[in-house]
Amino acid sequence: MRRAIPLVLALVAALLVAPGTAHAIPAAGVGHGYHYDNTTLGVDYVGATYYLRDPLRGNTRTTDCTTQQVIGSATSSFGTRNPADIRTVAADVHYVLGQFWDYYKVNHARSGILNNGTGAAACVRMSTTNRVYRNGSQFVVESASSGGLPLDLLAHELVHAVTEAMIGLGVSGESGALNESTSDIFGTLVEFGAAHPADPPDYTEGERTGTVFHYLYNPGLDGYSDTCWSTLTASHPPFQGSGVGNHAFFALAEGTGVTPYGTSPVCAGAPAVTGIGRATAGKIWYRALNYYLTSSATYRTTRTGTLAAAADLYGRCSVEHKAVRASWVAVGVPGTDAACP
Ligand SMILES: [Zn+2]
Repeated sequence: MRRAIPLVLALVAALLVAPGTAHAIPAAGVGHGYHYDNTTLGVDYVGATYYLRDPLRGNTRTTDCTTQQVIGSATSSFGTRNPADIRTVAADVHYVLGQFWDYYKVNHARSGILNNGTGAAACVRMSTTNRVYRNGSQFVVESASSGGLPLDLLAHELVHAVTEAMIGLGVSGESGALNESTSDIFGTLVEFGAAHPADPPDYTEGERTGTVFHYLYNPGLDGYSDTCWSTLTASHPPFQGSGVGNHAFFALAEGTGVTPYGTSPVCAGAPAVTGIGRATAGKIWYRALNYYLTSSATYRTTRTGTLAAAADLYGRCSVEHKAVRASWVAVGVPGTDAACP
């Protein structure tokens, strides 16, 4: 109990001195988004207005792209479930930003994109099509009045910023493929973290839009992505080559063969893989990014890097370490690492 008092004082002091947020009080808002209804939104309360700015998540904030003002409400409720209403779009986006923060904080002790305690900033605007992109340090979310982007597609884009901050993967070749794959992987893990009842977590990308863009468990199901590595992978566009990384991650997390999320094949008669769970697989992948991969990473160096990360975390020739090797073998990525007994 003795420690509680200084913490409270520190929190109060931080709230009083934070520029632009003087007298802000952290509060809970309720989101009525189009995709995600009845969400808890981190907001603050200043004067008589609630704002989509979350003091407990590094001032993660959602603004109106036109005015650049943080979206406010006279009540703690945001949105009407009507996708033509910009505040409904904002409720979905702010929910996703919060889930994104929580995933990295809880699983990797990472405080925001730059790991500097600052939350993500997004602005929303209505448009005729759906897209999300980065403009400087801000994400721009354009939303069609018939329904905007769901969590997995928004989180995919947010993860690109984390990857850039960590190692800056490329946009072509295997580095580009790994960049896309890493966004699919961690976007999926954010979806599992959120586990909103309207969007049961899975290993597909975009299912709530009516079109699945990527199947992590069997990438070739989209008619385009690489399920297995080959010498051609390096010359494929990133969205095609990303299948190899997605497939390897799925095998590591959930295993090959019949799983609750789909049936995952092995390449060229490789042995079946027993999954070690998505939390463990995510830790290994994150550590590989953090310590072993570079901006010019390839699938071979990622095999090496994830093996090193697994050895650090769980020991060489541990169950986890062996599973990492098995998952790369299952998708056909070659390596020169010594086999375990
Ligand atoms: Zn991407």
